[in-house]
Amino acid sequence: MNKPISIAIDGPSGAGKSTIAKTLAKKLGFIYIDTGAMYRAVGLYVLRRGVEPTDLAGVEPLLADIDISIAYEDGTQKVFLNNEDVSDKIRTPQISKYASDVSAHVPVRLKLVELQRGLANSKSVIMDGRDIGTYVLPDAQLKIFLTASGEERAKRRYLELTQKGAVCSLEEIARDMAQRDENDSKRAFAPLKAADDSIVLDSTTLTQDEVVEKILELYNFKCED
Ligand code: C5P
Repeated sequence: MNKPISIAIDGPSGAGKSTIAKTLAKKLGFIYIDTGAMYRAVGLYVLRRGVEPTDLAGVEPLLADIDISIAYEDGTQKVFLNNEDVSDKIRTPQISKYASDVSAHVPVRLKLVELQRGLANSKSVIMDGRDIGTYVLPDAQLKIFLTASGEERAKRRYLELTQKGAVCSLEEIARDMAQRDENDSKRAFAPLKAADDSIVLDSTTLTQDEVVEKILELYNFKCED
């Protein structure tokens, strides 16, 4: 069997990582792994237990009780928290905040990174997150840092949430996003940043198809024999 290939897609919130990664995974026949969903599932557990997500002393003892796994239904990733499918429950602004807070704790990251590396060991994957190219999969054959202007990212997230029926304001979304990006970029361990050997793609003025096309070109250039 050929050695599995890994593609890392990192970048700030709302840059379009998951949509692009899902499309690429389908086209290439790879497994898509959304690592943000794993941090969100931990955030949900911490919320349910009534613990402050910023409180390491409160969060760390809970980790032994948390089992995160993923499965695929019709090609869509489902996230399970202690065998409960929480894929929809983790998509709320409150859980975004909890995920960002718990993700700053080293023991949380180490637990999830082990799971993420295990998944990439046996299969070709496209993994999206914040630290995939820099920390989780430093040997990934292709690393993309996908970004877009703050205004454009907030607009995209606003449309996504309102289309699902959420009531929110663009200003609120922009503020929350900026706060999360700052938390993610400033944490001491495995912060959000472009790996030195990554290719930075600014999608502000590009369509999704154009971004997918560019990454496929890069993939063909770097990874195909
Ligand atoms: O990508 P998503 O917005 O679902 O991620 C939720 C949060 O999980 C992020 O704001 C970030 O704090 C954290 N995260 C992380 N490292 C990853 C993926 C997500 O710290 N690899």
